[in-house]
Amino acid sequence: MTSLNNDKRATHARTMRFEKTPTGCFIPVSHRTNQDGYLYKTWVVDGRTQKEAFHRFIYRAHHDILDWPAGYEIDHICRIRSCCNPDHLRMIGRSEHARYTNTYRYQDRHETARRYWLATKCNGTKLAKRYVVTTSTGCRWIRGWKANPDTYRSGADVSKQKPTFDIASRSIQSASI
Ligand SMILES: [Zn+2]
Repeated sequence: MTSLNNDKRATHARTMRFEKTPTGCFIPVSHRTNQDGYLYKTWVVDGRTQKEAFHRFIYRAHHDILDWPAGYEIDHICRIRSCCNPDHLRMIGRSEHARYTNTYRYQDRHETARRYWLATKCNGTKLAKRYVVTTSTGCRWIRGWKANPDTYRSGADVSKQKPTFDIASRSIQSASI
């Protein structure tokens, strides 16, 4: 890493610019994220080209880690994949990371489905098909929403939602290389 600043080829790199969101995320605006919402950066270190997720590079720099330990990944505590705020990043084991990611994916889908159901009052079968879950899960979701009076206060609920992946996908569209 020390040779990064000395490498002449690295000086051709464009300045990276980030936008700070109200939730404190650092979102890249000068560089495009990949289709999964991650920002990757190519470095030339000691004449060799290396590619690394930029948020991992930031984490390494922040915590003075030269070699990434095998079996560990970065988890975005804020759930925004393009965020590069080191305070929003933590290093966790791969299997634990997968568990977190699945949980949040499920929660995102559950919330989107809830809003769809509030708007359409569709049945469990239709909901299940639309959100790719089993019919019994779709019916269970609806039973849960019907049983919970908070479900009907949709306006207040939605405003409390964190703008998680929306920000990431917007930066994909607006940023350019
Ligand atoms: Zn963040």
